[in-house]
Amino acid sequence: MNIAIDFGGTTIKIGLVHEGKVHALRTLPAHSSKGLIPRLPAVAAAVRELLACHRLSIADCEGIGIATPGLVDTVNRTIVSINDKYSDAVGFSFQSWIADTFQLPFVMENDARSALIGETAYGVAQRETDAVLMTFGTGIGTAAMMNGKILHGRHYQAGILGGHFSTDIHGSLCNCGNIGCLEAQAGHWALNQAARRHPQYSQSRLSQLTQLSYLAVLEEALSGDQAATDLLEHLSSHWIAGIVNLIHAYDPEVVILSGGLMKSKDHIVPLLSERVCKNAWTPWGKVRIAVAEDPDASVLLGVSRLLSEHTA
Ligand SMILES: [Zn+2]
Repeated sequence: MNIAIDFGGTTIKIGLVHEGKVHALRTLPAHSSKGLIPRLPAVAAAVRELLACHRLSIADCEGIGIATPGLVDTVNRTIVSINDKYSDAVGFSFQSWIADTFQLPFVMENDARSALIGETAYGVAQRETDAVLMTFGTGIGTAAMMNGKILHGRHYQAGILGGHFSTDIHGSLCNCGNIGCLEAQAGHWALNQAARRHPQYSQSRLSQLTQLSYLAVLEEALSGDQAATDLLEHLSSHWIAGIVNLIHAYDPEVVILSGGLMKSKDHIVPLLSERVCKNAWTPWGKVRIAVAEDPDASVLLGVSRLLSEHTA
């Protein structure tokens, strides 16, 4: 049995994984604006409770796989850099925490890379060797696999900065320091700012919502609200540019879309796929667009897979 922990920005997910299946799952609120390190005692307690519920102990486990946002040094098993939330975890020794708390082998990886490993090993892109993933959460995470190898790059940045490819050189300042990043134009955290720029925003039903979400924009657009319709078109254009950038950069056979936005896949995917195929330069044929069936599971399955390779 492997223990897999996904430190998401909103929820921390803990899974017991065996042979490509999540056998048990527990979630904790992340409170990520207060940092990652203060949550570790609760995470350790939740792991022990979950094991006890299934009549297991630490000794029954092969090891622990940890997925986090940000740039992860997979060799030294630390977070090198992270945007905004969990910034206290940069440079933190997960090795010491694991040694003090569990005394088990462990691996660490970026969450989007973990999801791509999960999807190509067990999910919608099984047996694919050339794939990219784009996941729509608070930000927009990406990862890339070429010739069966997950890209890391010299500084652990390769493949995962697709949310920070510029899609508008005259666009907004991103919290990464760059101008007009996909995330700053069409990420969930930038939604309010994007909506407020619309000249009819104050007459739109969007202005009456306390919490703007992708789902709310879609629902209001479907009900005929003009500002929401225009905002959805703005968002789609940036998402499409982002996906085409990934295709041009990494030459995949398949693009996997994941994250909360895919709860509305019946509306969103047709909106994106036709224009992606039309805009992308792929003389060899058409890139397949696939939607992750269980985004939470794919991160846990991915880090568990890495752990199994590490301990084999
Ligand atoms: Zn950026």
